[in-house]
Amino acid sequence: MLNFNNRFLQSLPGDANLHNHSRQVQGAFWSRVDPTPVAAPRLIAHSPEVASVLGLSEAEVKSAEMVNALSGNATLPGMETYATAYGGHQFGNWAGQLGDGRAILLGEIIAPNNDRYELQLKGAGPTPYSRRADGRAVLRSSIREFLCSEAMHHLGIPTTRALSLVQTGDAVERDMFYDGNAAPEPGAIVCRVAPSFIRFGHFELPASRGETALLRQLVGFTMTHYFPHLLALPENERIAAWYGEVCERTAKLMAEWMRVGFVHGVMNTDNMSILGLTIDYGPYGWIDNFDPGWTPNTTDAGGKRYAYGRQPGVAQWNLGRLGDALSTLEIAADDLQTALAKFESTYAVEIKRVFANKFGFKAWSDQGGEIVDAAFALMGASEIDMTIFFRRLATANSVNDFKDAFYLDGEWVTEREKFAVWFGHYSSLIATESPTPNDQTERINRMNAANPKFVLRNYLAQQAIDAAHEGDTSKISELLNVMRHPYDEQPGRESFAEKRPDWARHKAGCSMLSCSS
Ligand code: AMP
Ligand code: MG
Repeated sequence: MLNFNNRFLQSLPGDANLHNHSRQVQGAFWSRVDPTPVAAPRLIAHSPEVASVLGLSEAEVKSAEMVNALSGNATLPGMETYATAYGGHQFGNWAGQLGDGRAILLGEIIAPNNDRYELQLKGAGPTPYSRRADGRAVLRSSIREFLCSEAMHHLGIPTTRALSLVQTGDAVERDMFYDGNAAPEPGAIVCRVAPSFIRFGHFELPASRGETALLRQLVGFTMTHYFPHLLALPENERIAAWYGEVCERTAKLMAEWMRVGFVHGVMNTDNMSILGLTIDYGPYGWIDNFDPGWTPNTTDAGGKRYAYGRQPGVAQWNLGRLGDALSTLEIAADDLQTALAKFESTYAVEIKRVFANKFGFKAWSDQGGEIVDAAFALMGASEIDMTIFFRRLATANSVNDFKDAFYLDGEWVTEREKFAVWFGHYSSLIATESPTPNDQTERINRMNAANPKFVLRNYLAQQAIDAAHEGDTSKISELLNVMRHPYDEQPGRESFAEKRPDWARHKAGCSMLSCSS
């Protein structure tokens, strides 16, 4: 039922060592490894859209044969299981070899429409890249990855996808607060799906070891299969052109994260996709009250390196590390610099487009820019829900329409007048730009397509997790169903669009997350 054709294995060198123990793997990009079987796998959620892309019927996804394959207990014909080698800069420091420590690829399939996808189990047991960790994943982080991959896709943002969420029936020990209190938690496995899981770190690792021929092979592989239009260029121009394209895709992704208030939380270079996809959903979070300095990741609470407002700058820094790796291929430094500069120029264009749509401007103007800056300054000075504020903006008639975007009644009282002045300026620009009723309808539609009503608020995901821990896994699919239509009004589902309730303000999982997963 799945047609496997595993190019990564066929085209790139693999590890001759077939034993599954932690080690440094040199001269190779992958190691064969079998998933470790689990006790009692149960499919608790799946994505109907991903199943359909892969050509799987509902009955096939739910079949015992498939659930066994999606939990690592059996292989399907054509599957070849392996883990890949990559390195990375973590929190700004070179960390050496990392690799798929708890992700095992099942191979690459050719879908019915001829697109290709890799399937990868996250949490399927140890691999040669697990270092001292167990290769497993807990239910709470797996629910979060499953839901957010799909929520991002439905928001129209490039991302890895999730086919399935399996509860394993095994317990996994985790010290969630890093306070010496490890406890057993239910284990789970997500089957992730993407055209490729290649990360910046896959290029950095061979570069760091002087394995230039190996690095060149991976660049060639990536370009041939994922950027084939660049093969028409003369050989000496290709790599810089390709790097420039990675910079452009990454810039577009950053503008999209900023648009919806997504904070990745761990933007290390090993968590950056070469295809410009959102990848590795760990302690990510969604902005409730607008705060550029907010990070969901408790490990990053001190430095706030990966805070919401810093994401574009960090992406650029990460691209610089990719450029350093490519510079070992004797590419002119100027060419790499010119390519890297595409990040800034692309981001500048994209973020203006994003803001023009969010605010409903016909095009970007200096006057519009001042109104945008003033809006963000006001929003940053009080606790105002970003998603509600923007969704209201399309049809607001008076400043009172923003009252429920405020988290604190006291702030509404003190800030209301400033907002009223701002809203006056905003409304007059909008009225000049879009004078006719037709213009207004077009503006409202454009704004509603840029400002989601529903995002995967941290507390919503946590409620689905709490219910699953009590044995009720139905909330996961219920939440997924809401997130499948984030820009629609969805009458009857208003409660999923409400701002973070007060009980969630300081609750673990709702306002902050540890990396323990
Ligand atoms: P992350 O920052 O969570 O994406 O992970 C960084 C590195 O740690 C990657 O190489 C992961 O494969 C590895 N890793 C994270 N958690 C585990 C685990 N439970 N077992 C093995 N490796 C892990
Ligand atoms: Mg990672």
